[in-house]
Amino acid sequence: MGKFSGRRALVTGAGSGIGRATALKLAQMGAEVFALSKTAENLESLCAECPNIKTVCVDLSDWTSTREAVQKIVPIHLLVNNAAAAALEPFLTTSPETFDRLMNVNVKAMMNVSQVVAGDLVNREGRGSIVNVSSQAGQRPLLDHTAYSCSKAAVDMMTKMMALELGPKGIRVNAVSPTVVMTAMGRLGWSDPAKAGPMLARIPQGRFAEVDEVVNAIMYLLGDESDMVNGHMLPVDGGFLAV
Ligand code: NDP
Repeated sequence: MGKFSGRRALVTGAGSGIGRATALKLAQMGAEVFALSKTAENLESLCAECPNIKTVCVDLSDWTSTREAVQKIVPIHLLVNNAAAAALEPFLTTSPETFDRLMNVNVKAMMNVSQVVAGDLVNREGRGSIVNVSSQAGQRPLLDHTAYSCSKAAVDMMTKMMALELGPKGIRVNAVSPTVVMTAMGRLGWSDPAKAGPMLARIPQGRFAEVDEVVNAIMYLLGDESDMVNGHMLPVDGGFLAV
């Protein structure tokens, strides 16, 4: 019997990076796991790695298809809204397409998936825990991150709104706010030592986060041991946001 035995979990953006590791950890801890992502090959390789995991292939930027796909797999007791897109553009040349795309995938889709999952739980009078994956970028401006940082600031407020309105209905909602993690997304922004160096200098622990360190924080917030924690953004940042 694992810690999450008997619970059904949904992880978005589970094809790679933090989401994939989260799905695998939840399966290891006994949950029945649904892994949602947009690239079929990534989901196939996840299934090959852990055949117990069920997959949902959908593009979160499509509101209707996403809603239909999630409706098919409820009830979900543990939801990790992890999927996100990133883009690097200076403020003056951030395009409306980039801004819309990031707000759509990073924020609007989070609301969409959460409405279906939480709405169903409320109807069943079930209890649940939701973790939104935000970023340190939601609380600090980072060069060339206008669309991304704005989307993560919106994720933080969405987390608080959800905690406020869903808390009384038995559903807790928290977020994690990691510093850089060297996934595909992390490499996009921080592979260049000229960028990584100054960022590392702002992190008191002097290093980036490991995927498993973010996953551990997600597990804590999902689990019953954090039952009194609600509407909180937990930094996994080596102290970046503290100084
Ligand atoms: P990855 O790029 O490795 O993974 C992102 C995942 O999101 C992929 O599996 C991708 O799907 C999925 N995804 C993206 N767009 C869509 C979409 N339209 N529909 C469905 N799925 C989609 O990134 P990380 O693991 O690094 O990022 C995970 C989370 O952590 C994100 O919320 C990110 O903002 C956050 N974060 C990351 C940091 C970092 O430095 N890496 C730092 C702070 C926060 P697929 O594989 O199917 O294509």
